[in-house]
Amino acid sequence: TYVVIENCIACKYTDCVEVCPVDCFYEGENMLVIHPDECIDCGVCEPECPADAIRPDTEPDMEKWVEFNRKYSESW
Ligand code: SF4
Repeated sequence: TYVVIENCIACKYTDCVEVCPVDCFYEGENMLVIHPDECIDCGVCEPECPADAIRPDTEPDMEKWVEFNRKYSESW
């Protein structure tokens, strides 16, 4: 899965939401999140983010961000 990290907080762009083929972006309290079970790992959103806030969970220390993204995407 891909996840959104804190770089998203000040970002006002939603280009990622528009390109996602499965609509798995949700609004958290002050940033967007990705539902980890709905993301199909296509990677299309990553280069669209001007804040470099979208990362694959294969990067180091992403577990807390996967849980964060899950928590806020499931509150809908
Ligand atoms: Fe959506 Fe693909 Fe990005 Fe996952 S990797 S959030 S499916 S655009």
